Amino acid sequence: MALAVTHVLITIVVLDLLRHYVFGKKHFPRYLIVVGGVAGLAPDFDIVISWIVSFFSSGHVDLHGVFSHSLTFVLLFGLIGIIFSSDYVFKHKADRRKWSSIFFVIAFGWTMHLFLDCLYGGYKSFLWPLQIATNFCPQWGVQDHAASIDAILLILWIVHEEMHGYVRDWF
Ligand SMILES: [Zn+2]
Repeated sequence: MALAVTHVLITIVVLDLLRHYVFGKKHFPRYLIVVGGVAGLAPDFDIVISWIVSFFSSGHVDLHGVFSHSLTFVLLFGLIGIIFSSDYVFKHKADRRKWSSIFFVIAFGWTMHLFLDCLYGGYKSFLWPLQIATNFCPQWGVQDHAASIDAILLILWIVHEEMHGYVRDWF
């Protein structure tokens, strides 16, 4: 698995780049980047659940990668986004745009997480609840360099932000 920081950082960076270069600031409010960053880490809530279940049971329970790392969740959030973008749920256009964007960004962050875990060589049940082995993830040993990758990404992003004068965006 990729480190927690990597999941949040890469998702935020990609969303930020999309915001600046594709969608534009007006159509992509900054809170969506926060939503995406949280969603980028969210599939790992199974680690927390494992701790809790282990605590209350006598043995060690590991649910990591068992169900939350599934494309099923991506489809689910995407579907919610589509439903919210129609006029079935929200009457006002602004609400439709806001809530569909939030769920599309969650689906995006979730996808980024699965993609990164796979890139880092993790074997997860990507197709849960279908019990199909997904062993297509490359075994390049990327996870051995996880800390260095984080450091390089962070530096590149700060340089990019500074070059464009975006650092003041943060404050
Ligand atoms: Zn994970």
